[in-house]
Amino acid sequence: MSSFQALGLAAPILQALDEEGYTTPTPIQAGAIPHLLKGKDLLGLAQTGTGKTAAFALPILNYLLEHPRRAAPRGARVLVLAPTRELVAQIGDNFAAYARHMKFSHAVIFGGVGQNRQVEAMKRGVDVMVAAPGRLLDLVGQGHIDLSTLEIVVLDEADRMLDMGFVHDIRRIVARLPEKRQTLLFSATMPPSIRDLAHSLLKDPETVQVTPESSTVDRIRQAVLFVDSAQKKEALMMLVNNDRVVRAVVFTLMKHEANKVAEFLNKSGITAAAIHGNKSQGARERAMQGFRDGSIRVLVATDIAARGIDVDEVSHVFNYDLPNVPEAYVHRIGRTARAGREGWAVSLCDAEQRAWLREIEKRISKAVPVITDHPYHSADAQNSTLPPPVLGGGRGGRGGRGGGGGHAGGRGRSPRSPSSRPTASGQAASRNRRRRSS
Ligand code: AMP
Repeated sequence: MSSFQALGLAAPILQALDEEGYTTPTPIQAGAIPHLLKGKDLLGLAQTGTGKTAAFALPILNYLLEHPRRAAPRGARVLVLAPTRELVAQIGDNFAAYARHMKFSHAVIFGGVGQNRQVEAMKRGVDVMVAAPGRLLDLVGQGHIDLSTLEIVVLDEADRMLDMGFVHDIRRIVARLPEKRQTLLFSATMPPSIRDLAHSLLKDPETVQVTPESSTVDRIRQAVLFVDSAQKKEALMMLVNNDRVVRAVVFTLMKHEANKVAEFLNKSGITAAAIHGNKSQGARERAMQGFRDGSIRVLVATDIAARGIDVDEVSHVFNYDLPNVPEAYVHRIGRTARAGREGWAVSLCDAEQRAWLREIEKRISKAVPVITDHPYHSADAQNSTLPPPVLGGGRGGRGGRGGGGGHAGGRGRSPRSPSSRPTASGQAASRNRRRRSS
């Protein structure tokens, strides 16, 4: 009996999984599928690459098999919301693959292409509609799609959707959902804005969280340099100016800081590009391509943008800013030492962020080795007892949208806050460490 069979999935799904070559459920699948089969709401904390798509797609298909019903015209039984056109298409493909031995219909809805085919696909109704928020709202507004008959709603990569400025679109969509439904929310991070969204959408949810393999984390050599914030750029230069740094990802907290750091590195003769939610999809893709082919040595990224970085040979991760949420540190450093390689994760810590380092060290249950033998060492930063900085920004105030290939532009949307501040605080950080399962 396969492990998927033990989870209680129906035969047509098991057959498809067998053909896909899936033998063992991933941790997010093993954690989420039993709850979802019981019809529970779910908060899933997992990144791309963990198998999270199947974690929701498989129990949804199982539900459709067990409750066969025709979808209403212009309606869907299941809605999956995702931030970009690429992700929408990929989720649609995954559903189709897992459903290949059952009667199943689906439609994908995203901007940047004509709407006629999408309108046509929705006319008779579908089992599963996978959609980017902007185009979905357009078609709902024009009366081509009716959300009132949904039975299951999934928000995938919710933090990225908020980061891309979809918060108002999501609220408008949510206002049209039927009260009685099963709701799933997946996010890689848990800033207060996601906590708020989860709280308003989910009823008595189960929480399932997965983090990168600790075996990977153990292979990463970590170090911290204490520096004054005014000298961070020079200290970073010193770190990057080393032949061993083949490909590096530099993390900043703010989008504008990512731009500034990339600019500084370029001026200093180091090829660098910033990637964050304000960059267009095209700019991000060019940066990624350059990073892969070696013409760009350093990517400067904010936490959420970094999730699009799918490159195995990252030799170094540099934390220009420490993250305000300890979990994010683990995710960041997991960008290096992939596929069995070794990697370095070196952090710059100023007096203000000293408290965050203490939180991180509690999370990873060890002290990060300190390097003091360098020209920028600051004893003040090392000995700082300042309270953790409280970062502002409320719901959805996380900077502009960007990269949204799957978004129909041009609809009057309220202006974004110019700020790109993360929305977590030190207190939130400690709350985040209290996980219910893993
Ligand atoms: P995702 O996190 O949903 O983007 O999935 C990452 C990749 O893992 C995709 O290519 C999936 O096809 C694959 N995958 C998902 N679940 C399993 C599994 N249980 N066994 C093997 N591969 C899987």
